[in-house]
Amino acid sequence: MPDDLRDAKPAKIRCDACPVMCFIADGKSGACDRYANHAGELVRLDPLTVIQSGAKAVAFLDQGNNAQDWDGDVIQGGRDFVTAVGAGTTYPDYKPAPFIVSQEVEGVDMVTVVTEGIFSYCGVKVKIDTDRHIGDERAVVRVDGEAIGHVMTSEYGSKMLSLGGVEHLTGGSKKEGRVTCDALLRLCNRDAVEMTIDGGVTMVVEAGKPPIINGTPEKLMRVGCGSATIGMFAKQWHGHVDEVVVVDDHITGVLSEHEAGKGLDMTPSGIRINGRRSTPGRYFQVADPGTGWGGTDVEDPLTILRPADPKRAWPGLRLLMISTTGEQWAYFILDDGLEPQPADITPELLTIAERIAENCEPSLCSVLFMGGAGGSLRAGVTENPVRLTRSVKESLTHVSCGGAGAYVWPGGGITVMVDVMDMPTNSFGYVPTPALVAPIEFTLRREDYGTLGGHMEHIQPVGDVVTTDVRRVAQQALQSDPNARENYGWAKDDR
Ligand code: SF4
Repeated sequence: MPDDLRDAKPAKIRCDACPVMCFIADGKSGACDRYANHAGELVRLDPLTVIQSGAKAVAFLDQGNNAQDWDGDVIQGGRDFVTAVGAGTTYPDYKPAPFIVSQEVEGVDMVTVVTEGIFSYCGVKVKIDTDRHIGDERAVVRVDGEAIGHVMTSEYGSKMLSLGGVEHLTGGSKKEGRVTCDALLRLCNRDAVEMTIDGGVTMVVEAGKPPIINGTPEKLMRVGCGSATIGMFAKQWHGHVDEVVVVDDHITGVLSEHEAGKGLDMTPSGIRINGRRSTPGRYFQVADPGTGWGGTDVEDPLTILRPADPKRAWPGLRLLMISTTGEQWAYFILDDGLEPQPADITPELLTIAERIAENCEPSLCSVLFMGGAGGSLRAGVTENPVRLTRSVKESLTHVSCGGAGAYVWPGGGITVMVDVMDMPTNSFGYVPTPALVAPIEFTLRREDYGTLGGHMEHIQPVGDVVTTDVRRVAQQALQSDPNARENYGWAKDDR
């Protein structure tokens, strides 16, 4: 062979792991930085991730819904669970999943089918523990000026965002799709993302961390609404104060008028509140929503009071106004004209304010990835994809994402939702179509895998897959110990 041909570098090779079909030169990586050409061989750049020991998953049922001889613990002490993180993808052509791994678990032959799915139908649901008004329901959420999602219905003590989805990824401009994909990737990989809400706040969201709202880190999630707070602390306030108003954007509570105050035979104080009375001692819409006291726009609590009722109020009446987290409070004494005058709070009332704060939980951002396993992903598992769907619905097949148990939505398809904090760090990737790449594993009994038309000829023993090159991470009881991630090396240094 002539020297010039012998020394020639291998030609570019084509990656067929996603529809972009990159041609990759030797020593270079493709557009997603997940695959590279290494001396003419297409290689996945991130190591396959294996989890050791861990938490219980769901119990498996047989066709008659009876518990099986395997208890459904997919990640058991001492055994390796091969996740799809770093496994590679098989889209868009039909191919079996990259790894179909067999393993004996408590005497039962099990198979785990492992693949990184390319999800164009995907997004995140974000729960932000705060009372503060971040924006109206349905307001658009933006990153770099591009719409990436919207504010959805609030939950108790939390605001909720729905981000991503196919309309932002592929239904808008190219920039909108790219920015949305990048924001989703960073949120799922537990990085911080700054976003603005139309007509609302600027906010930094990072999974497992407090939200930073208009530059201020949120500290506490309220213990309850204003009415609930009255109910919880009425007895402790009784005797130390004549009236308490708990300021809340949802329900502002007024102690002496509230059922809890009546139960303590409190004298009606004549303190009157702006807003719409719902039931005695419970008021809606005392102010506009905002980032002040109790999720209202109130900075001065007296602005929610109407003049006191002269037939009931009395000079010297002791009035405490407090927010739902106990972080803001103000104490007043009514003067001879029944006007509230600021006064020094008593030690007893201060202790109760601190107790309200103590009963609040730390404010956190929670990021749940949600995606649908489409037909081609299912075809990587079985020649008859609908049987996989049925097997999942019948609880014969357990679905996990990076080893974390996934909630499977009822109804058609395999639509999963999983907390990114339960997954190994850096579990997610992307392709420039744009779409998110997320790990997904299907674990089931070997005989059930054969029954649903699985790719039996591609099954490999776990020992062939778990080599010294794999990345090992420890599964811990992360949710019960907020410090566990750092303690057990699940932090960013594990990337
Ligand atoms: S974007 Fe990534 S997965 Fe898609 S073809 Fe290029 S290198 Fe392969």
